[in-house]
Amino acid sequence: MVPFEEFRRRVGYDLVGVPPLGCFDGLPPSEHPLSLFPDARSVVVVGTRIRRGQFRAMEEGSLWQTPGRWLTSFDGVIRVIESEGYECVPYAPADAPHMPRRPLRAGQCPPNGVRLSIDYAAAAAGLGEIGYHGMFMSERFGIRQALGLLVTDMDVEPSTGSPTGICDRCLACVQACPLEALSATVSTTVTCQGRTMVLGEINANACRACPNGVSGDSKYFAGADELHFEIENNQVKGDARSRFARGGLPNRLAAACGRACIAHFEATHDTGYRIPFRSREPWGFRPDEPRGW
Ligand code: SF4
Ligand code: SF4
Repeated sequence: MVPFEEFRRRVGYDLVGVPPLGCFDGLPPSEHPLSLFPDARSVVVVGTRIRRGQFRAMEEGSLWQTPGRWLTSFDGVIRVIESEGYECVPYAPADAPHMPRRPLRAGQCPPNGVRLSIDYAAAAAGLGEIGYHGMFMSERFGIRQALGLLVTDMDVEPSTGSPTGICDRCLACVQACPLEALSATVSTTVTCQGRTMVLGEINANACRACPNGVSGDSKYFAGADELHFEIENNQVKGDARSRFARGGLPNRLAAACGRACIAHFEATHDTGYRIPFRSREPWGFRPDEPRGW
């Protein structure tokens, strides 16, 4: 077994974690990482810091720029793993048209049927926790990181750590939402490695229509119904809702809720920046306001 510290040092990302496989026990195949590669021995979560400047233009309302929340390049970690004679399957939470919609072997998920929670895996690896708004937060960067997950047949020692209190339930994310999509009073819990994380109930359909910085990096973007997805009752037909994804939330890092969390995190943590993230009144719109926004 490769010692975790040695693996982390060689991989070299801002965040590296290896959740114990036991944390996925009981999950259905569609939510279990080993569904990606049945011979895998380890799940690896990596993350890179998103520079604060990538949120600046959205905060100022000067340029519509949305940082990605999922890593698309795994070259560094793949090189390390393959140099030792192992291989890996990186997970891409994306959909492609024209994939088979049925399992190709007995007992498997269809090729586009796996819906992993990278946020949960990152929390299980001890990299942070899921905040009240439902986004992953690390101790170093708050919500400002892009995460990626891969599975490998390399046997890597699980990482340790169980940070708590990164989300202090200030509810700034709730108060910042012009659509009142995030409840201040109704919540659910996710238990992970002995820690209980409280997640506010959220109206995912409102988030998909949110004009305050949401990014459509999945099939849940405006106009998806005109492409290759079948929509029924305002939902993507056949969509597997996991207990984590809660209806396929879009990328909200730069949305009003996400930026409120950045502002609060910066006010309560030393991140080294010379000016505060928020120095002007935040802006916000509702999609049912008269057009013109
Ligand atoms: S804004 Fe406050 S309550 Fe919301 S996720 Fe961030 S720290 Fe938690
Ligand atoms: S994405 Fe928009 S609608 Fe959803 S919680 Fe954030 S601010 Fe509210």
